[in-house]
Formats: sequence, structure tokens, C-alpha cells
Amino acid sequence: MTHPLDSLRRRGAASRRLLLRAGAGSALGAALWPGLARAQAPAAAAASASASQAAPAPWRNWSGLQQCQPRRHFVPANEAELAQALRDAPAGTTLRSVGAGHSFTPLVPTDQWLVSLDRLSGVARAPVAGAALVQGGTRLAVVSRQLDTLGLALPNLPDIDVQSYAGAISTGTHGTGRELPALHAEVQALRLVTARGEVVECSASKNPELLAAARVSLGSLGVITQAQVRVVPAYNLHRHVWLEPAMQLLERAPELARKHRNFEFYYLPFTGYAAGITHDVDTSAEVLTVQAADEDVLRDLRRLRDWLGFSPALRRKVAGWLIDPKQTEDARNRAWRLLATQRPTRFNETEYHVPAEAGLACVKEVIAALEKRSEVFFPLEFRFVAADDAWLSPFYQRASCSIAVHAAADEAHDYLLSEIGPIFQRHGGRPHWGKLHSLGAAQLAALYPRFKDFQALRRDMDPEGRLLNPHLRSLLGVTA
Ligand SMILES: Cc1cc2nc3c(=O)[nH]c(=O)nc-3n(C[C@H](O)[C@H](O)[C@H](O)COP(=O)(O)OP(=O)(O)OC[C@H]3O[C@@H](n4cnc5c(N)ncnc54)[C@H](O)[C@@H]3O)c2cc1C
Repeated sequence: MTHPLDSLRRRGAASRRLLLRAGAGSALGAALWPGLARAQAPAAAAASASASQAAPAPWRNWSGLQQCQPRRHFVPANEAELAQALRDAPAGTTLRSVGAGHSFTPLVPTDQWLVSLDRLSGVARAPVAGAALVQGGTRLAVVSRQLDTLGLALPNLPDIDVQSYAGAISTGTHGTGRELPALHAEVQALRLVTARGEVVECSASKNPELLAAARVSLGSLGVITQAQVRVVPAYNLHRHVWLEPAMQLLERAPELARKHRNFEFYYLPFTGYAAGITHDVDTSAEVLTVQAADEDVLRDLRRLRDWLGFSPALRRKVAGWLIDPKQTEDARNRAWRLLATQRPTRFNETEYHVPAEAGLACVKEVIAALEKRSEVFFPLEFRFVAADDAWLSPFYQRASCSIAVHAAADEAHDYLLSEIGPIFQRHGGRPHWGKLHSLGAAQLAALYPRFKDFQALRRDMDPEGRLLNPHLRSLLGVTA
């Protein structure tokens, strides 16, 4: 009978596998990480257009942690139909917008109306140079592909690209890059359908305060039907991935972030190693692809945990024996083909954004806490994000380091909130709106200088709270 650790014991094969992981698929990411295949239908899309007529299916988010049974799953064909339906909705109806269901927090669940813009999808050139019009329901992968046909691209992308554009900006979704802000920071103008069924527009010259509030608004100000977004000429990137002793890479992180367009690292728990990933603009026009990333490394890390979790020292020793830090991996391609990856294995996640200068001290504390828990095996992700000025942006007037900690969807994740959350909070962290955290309105108000302004604007736009569910009420301090 084959011993489950046999693959890890054969140094050559195993180290090559770890290496492939580390380098492949954008990174370790793909190698070590869980996620959704681009081709796979998002959970929230399970209810199709016809669901507006039929009894809706139960809804669940990507990780399966959040679920609901809506009374109606409304998938309007166009903005006018959406506005009419909101005007006609019976008094007291709660409506929650849903994108691709890739948030971990209970932002979406309602037992009343779910509104999905799956049929409002597409990209066009904007009337102004250097910008595109993106319909709210467009998946990021579709945004990238359609922009590419126009010779254009988004300046940056998150780890995956299955999210809807409106859903992604609504929670402050970001990639990595010291000089690169989150997606919503590139939004120049928005169209929303309000709770009253009115279509409103905002931009720097028209309703600028609404633009500042609505770019990250958790579906609480209206349904975003279209965004005018800054784009850049299509570009290629060169990706480089390597393994390095973790503490050494941590110390080099600020310098690497200054030197490279995109830099991030994944810390591999109980191995002593981290994987560095850089992306830089590539003008060579060469295309260099890598073997599609699979999840062998994640499985190997899990196996190491399962078999050697009883002895952190032995686990670290075996991991050090298996990992060959000399191996590296390089890829060259269109930016969107490299920046976003696939995450087949499901997980739950917390992520906070701490002031950039607190990033290293914070991540060291988080690593120390994680390594006290023998069940931990998922890599930790560390990224850099530039500041912006959206009122509820976690990066509001603050360059940040984003630190993300994951737990397998089929395992307990309570320590993400009880043990890891307080460390982030001590370092002044603002939680990712779409990832697990336990903060309420009072704590959030202390973290966001424009929080009260947002509350007032929301009250004006939706005095009856038709766009709120219990989670939103607790976040935004709405009791009535
Ligand atoms: C595998 C995985 C990888 C991820 N990687 C990253 C990453 O690299 N960086 C990062 O920052 N985040 C990441 N996330 C988090 C994810 O990007 C966010 O949670 C994002 O908001 C999900 O988009 P969605 O389309 O699924 O929106 P949903 O989760 O469906 O909704 C999110 C919010 O947007 C609102 N909303 C949706 N559509 C509209 C609309 N038309 N108008 C107004 N409001 C709307 C909803 O009401 C809700 O409040 C990841 C998540 C997963 C599961």
C-alpha cells in the first residue's frame, strides 16, 4: 500500500512539485491556492434569467458559508426594467444586489429580493479618451477580454477575475502594487438605480460626493448599472516566482515593492519559506506560458499538516528537505492572463489592510500566531495597495499592506476572527468588506474619517433601509 507521504519522501519528485506550485499559475497562488475556474459558473449565477419567473433556487456564496432563500431572484434585462421594478416593489421589500457571490461576509443574503445584473454585461469605449464604459454585471474576465479586443486593459487585477465589476468595486477589491490602487479608484463616473427606482449619475463634475461614496458602497446606495473606468493601453507582463527563506523575504519586501510594478509574497506555514512573485511590464512581445497550475502543493502542505502536525519541528524539517529554493519560474503574456488565476479549492478568508509602515510588524505577529496552531497549512498572502479617496475605501488616504489568512472551507475558521482579527486591529487594520471580520459601526466609524458622511448620504438615498440586510445594518449602524 502506498504511504500517503510517499510523494513527499521522494525528494526529486516532491521538490519539483513544490516548485511547480510555487511558480505556476501565477504564483504560488494557483499552485497553492483554492479558487474557481474561470469557466465555472459562479454560485450566484445559478439562478439564471429565467429565475425572474420561476421559484428561485436557494443562494449560497462561493465558500458555502453564506446562504439564503430569496423570495425573488430578479435578473433585469436592462436598466429601465430594473428601475421600474424598484418603483413597483411592494412597500417594505428588502432588495440586495448580488454579483458573483464571491464575498465571504453576509453582504448579500436576504429572504426577499436578490437583484442580479447578469444580463447587463459588456464593455465599450467611453466618450472620453483613456476610459471605458463597463456594465455592472460584467465579469472581470469578460472586461479584460473585451478591453483587449479594443487594445485596452485595466491597470491592475485581483487574484481571480470571476467577480462582477460592480460587486468587485463595491467591496474595495484590489490586486497588488505599491503604486497601484484598488479597482474602484479607477472609476470616474457611475450610474445607479436607487431604492426609489430613480436613475442617478455621478462623476467628478456631477454629484461628486455621491461618486466618492458610491465607489465602495456594499450595495447600500443603489444598484450600480454602469461605470466609466480609467483604462490603459493593453500591456504584457513578465512574471517571476521564487522561493526564499521567509524572514529574509519579509525584510526585502519593501524594497521589492519599490522596484517592481507588482510584488506580493505568500508565506508557507511551517516550512520556513515564502514565495515571492513579481510582475513587470514586458515589451518583448514574447509569450512564455507555464504548465497550468494545479493544487498538488496545497495538497502536499495539507498532507504534511495531517501527518506531521503533531511536531512542528519535524514538519518544518521535512518541508525544508522537500523544497528546492533554487528553482524559479517565469512567464510572459498579456497582463490579464497572468495577474488573475484560478482557485478550485474552496476556503474562507479574512483580510485586513494595515498602514503600509505597519505591514511587516503586523505580518510577523500574524505568522507567530498561525504557527501556534498546528492545523494551519494555507499560505498567507501579503500585498501592497496604493491610497485612494473613496469614503469607505479601506485604502482611504492611506497606502496599505494587505494581509490575507485562509482556512479550508471544510475546516474550522473561528480563529481567523478570534485570534488573527485582534492582531490586525491592534495595527490599525481596516477589514476587507468582503472578507471575514467582526467589526461593527462604532469600530468602523473610528477607522473611516468619512463614515458619518456616508451614513448621512445613505439615509437620504434610502431612508426606509430597503437596500439593507441585518449585516449591513450592523456595519452601518442602522437600528430603525
Ligand atoms: C477565490 C477568491 C479570491 C479573491 N481574491 C480577491 C483579491 O485578490 N482581492 C480582493 O480584494 N478580493 C478578493 N476576493 C474577494 C472578492 O473580490 C470580493 O468579495 C468581491 O466583492 C466579490 O465580487 P462579486 O461579484 O462576487 O460580488 P458579491 O460578493 O456578489 O457582492 C459583493 C457586494 O457587492 C454588492 N453588489 C453586487 N453587485 C452590485 C451592483 N450591481 N450594484 C451595487 N452593489 C452590488 C453586493 O450587494 C455586495 O455588497 C476574492 C474572493 C474569492 C472567493
